[in-house]
Amino acid sequence: MLNQLTISALTAKLAKREVSAREAVQSCLDQIACVDKKIHAFISYNADDALAQAAAADQELAKGGSTARRLLGIPVAVKDVLAVKNQPLNCGSKILGKFVSPYDATVVEKLKAAGAIVFGRLNMDEFAMGSSTENSAFGTTRNPWDTTRIPGGSSGGSAAAVAADEAIATLGSDTGGSIRQPAALCGCVGLKPTYGRVSRYGLVAFASSLDQIGPLTKDIRDAATMLGVISGHDLRDSTSVPQPVPDYAASLTGDIKGLKLGLPKEYMIGGLDPEVKAAVDAAVRQFEKLGAEIVEISLPHTDYGVSVYYIIATAEASANLARFDGIRYGARVDGADPTELYRRTRGAGFGAEVKRRIILGTYVLSSGYYDAYYLRAQKVRTLIRNDFLQAFEKVDAIVTPTSPTAAFKIGEKSDDPLQMYLSDIFTISCNLAGICGISLPCGFTGSQPSTLNPQPRLPIGLQLLGKPFGEETLLKIAHAYEQNTLWHKERAATVI
Ligand code: GLN
Repeated sequence: MLNQLTISALTAKLAKREVSAREAVQSCLDQIACVDKKIHAFISYNADDALAQAAAADQELAKGGSTARRLLGIPVAVKDVLAVKNQPLNCGSKILGKFVSPYDATVVEKLKAAGAIVFGRLNMDEFAMGSSTENSAFGTTRNPWDTTRIPGGSSGGSAAAVAADEAIATLGSDTGGSIRQPAALCGCVGLKPTYGRVSRYGLVAFASSLDQIGPLTKDIRDAATMLGVISGHDLRDSTSVPQPVPDYAASLTGDIKGLKLGLPKEYMIGGLDPEVKAAVDAAVRQFEKLGAEIVEISLPHTDYGVSVYYIIATAEASANLARFDGIRYGARVDGADPTELYRRTRGAGFGAEVKRRIILGTYVLSSGYYDAYYLRAQKVRTLIRNDFLQAFEKVDAIVTPTSPTAAFKIGEKSDDPLQMYLSDIFTISCNLAGICGISLPCGFTGSQPSTLNPQPRLPIGLQLLGKPFGEETLLKIAHAYEQNTLWHKERAATVI
C-alpha cells in the first residue's frame, strides 16, 4: 500500500509514473478513515484540498517534474503549531477558537516549494507543553503499538501519524524533546535540528530560545531529505543562521569506521527501564561492530537539566502566551472591562498544564525571584552547554536512550506533573545546549512475548546527540546503524 512507503520509495514510483500523487494521497486518506478513530493523530484535514494539490502534482509529474522539487507529490502533515495559509491553527488549545492562518510558516512554504502536499493538522499537547499528548483540548492521541498507551508528546500526533502510516512524513516541534520522545515511543525517526538551522517563522512560540522545528519519518534517508528541504537562513527569523545547507543524503555512506561515540556516565540513572538499557547496550555493541570507537564521557551538570529547563521554558512561555488575550486572536469571553475580558478568556481558553506553566514562569521572573531562579538558571544553562562542547572535543556524537521508559499507559502520569516532567530527562539538555539530536528505533520491549508476558511489544528509541550544525554526522551514524538492523521495518499490528 502506498501509504506505507517512505519518501524515497514513493518518489521513485512517482517519477517512473507507476503510481500517481492522487493515489498516494488517497491511500493516506483511506488509512486515516480506517484507523484514525482509534488513533486520533489528526485534529482536522481537508480531503478535497489534498486531492486538488495532488492533481496539480500529477500534472507536473506528467511533464517530467523537476528534480529540484524533492517532495513532488508526497503527502506531508504538520503539527497544529505551524501556520498553513487558509488552514485552522489551534496549537491543541481552545483559546484560538476558529482562527485560520493568513500565511504559511517558512517551513511550510519550503515544503510546498519542494512539491509536498501539505494536508492535515496533527494533534499535540496544548501549546506543546507535555510529554503524552494528553494535554490537548482535542482529546488524547493513542499509541499505534498499543492504543491503551500514550504516543509521547508534545508532537504525539506527528509521531502516531507516521507510525500508523496515515502520512508519509510529518513535521513536529521540539522544545525539550517533543520530536524525539514521541518518535521513540512510536517507533519512528525524529530529528531536532541545531538551534538556528531551521526558521521558526510561523511556528507559534512556546519557549523561543529552545524551540526548533524538525521532521518525523519512517527512516533516516527520509529525515535527511526533509531536513534538507526545511533548513536554511530566513530574514524573518533573526535566530536562523546564514550557514549553507549541505546535501544531507550525501553523508549516508554507511561508513562510520573510526568515529568516536561518547557514552555519558551520568545517563545511567536509577529510573532507566532495564529493557531500554538492554536495547541501548546492544546498539552500542552494534556501533562497535561497525568500527566506531566507544568512549566514556562525563556531562557533569546533567542533574540540573530538568530544573533549569522548567525555569527557562516557563519564563519564556509566560511572556509568549501573553498575546492570547481575547483581543488579538481567536476565542473571546466578554467582560465588563478589559481586565475582566482577559481574565475570563484566558481562564476559559487555557487548560490546566498551560496555566501551571504560566504561573510558574511569571513567578520565576517576578522581582525578588528573578536573580534566584531565572538568572541562575541561565548561568547553569551555560555550564550545560559547555559540558557538551567539551565532550565534542573528544567525540563525534553522544549515544543515550531517548526516553527512560517505553510508552506508558494513558492516565498513568496525568496527576503527577513531576513524573511527567522526568520523562524528558534525556532529551532536555540538547535544547538547553542548542545542539542537534535524533531518535531512531533500536528495539522493542517484551521481545520474547509469552503467555506470562502478554504485553504488546513497544518500540524503544536510541538518541544520538551531535555538535552544533553536526546533523550530517548524526545522520551518517544513524543510517549506518539502520542499515544493519530491521527495527524500522516493523509495523504496528493495530494499524495494518
Ligand atoms: N515535554 C516537555 C515539556 O513539557 C517538552 C515539550 C516540547 O519539547 N515542546 O515542556
